[in-house]
Amino acid sequence: MNIITFDIEEWFIEKTFGAGRTERYATFDRYLDDILAMLDRAGTRATFFCVGQMATDFPAVIHKIADSGHEVGCHSNTHRWLNKMTRDEALDDTRHAVDALEQCLGTKVISYRAPAFSIGAHNKWAFEILAQCGIQRDASVFPAARDFGGFEHFGSTTPCIVRCGDAAIKEFPIPTATILGKQVAYSGGGYFRFFPLWYVKGKIAKGDYAMTYFHIGDLVPESKGVMSRKAYEDYFKEKGTLLNRYKRYIKSNLGKKGAMAKLQSLVANTTFTNLDQADKDINWDDAKVITL
Ligand SMILES: [Zn+2]
Repeated sequence: MNIITFDIEEWFIEKTFGAGRTERYATFDRYLDDILAMLDRAGTRATFFCVGQMATDFPAVIHKIADSGHEVGCHSNTHRWLNKMTRDEALDDTRHAVDALEQCLGTKVISYRAPAFSIGAHNKWAFEILAQCGIQRDASVFPAARDFGGFEHFGSTTPCIVRCGDAAIKEFPIPTATILGKQVAYSGGGYFRFFPLWYVKGKIAKGDYAMTYFHIGDLVPESKGVMSRKAYEDYFKEKGTLLNRYKRYIKSNLGKKGAMAKLQSLVANTTFTNLDQADKDINWDDAKVITL
């Protein structure tokens, strides 16, 4: 089972942390149109995790995705990482986001992905919050150590049921590959750009389960330059030393040229489904249960 997902936030990020340039919005619109056309050609339905504030500020984007037959999930309200919020703040954020998306769409939103996979052992209460907000499926767990976040020793690398307090959530973790003894992602973001296409295709073809994740920002080749110290600290909530900012810059720009063509080739040659369909296809009675 191969699942394809996109995280939708670029318009909101440009409005909030950038200069609100209309030409940037137009670029994101164009990329979204290309992605929707690409999925349509392949007969593929994806899950698009959308930032809640997008439903308020850019409802046309949310409608366009849903009208094309794709599932809309929630990607927090303002792209704040769950591991940088208190439990109360996270509850407030998720509630706002789910409400905004549901009001925009007129349907329930039950799938969720935290920004930057920011659910880990230290904030496992996030699962209880998600359940409180009506979320049934989550795709936020990166089941290994990671620069920011990650859930080491999570206990499963394939779809499973997470029990935490009263909550039970169907979890779809990010698959990892072992490179030089380290667990890394290969099926999305900067890692998808870094690895050659044959490697990613091979990993997906060989496994029983893959979860891919893409941001439009991963595909747009223009470079924004190194972030200012203030913008970095506002956004990442950590020290904006030159080294930290430079590391982020390299990470976010590596291999962007040609990334869209790579994605098109992957989608044209691989059978993908979305979380909604995957949920129906899995026999959950046989699924592993992770009790946190
Ligand atoms: Zn995101």
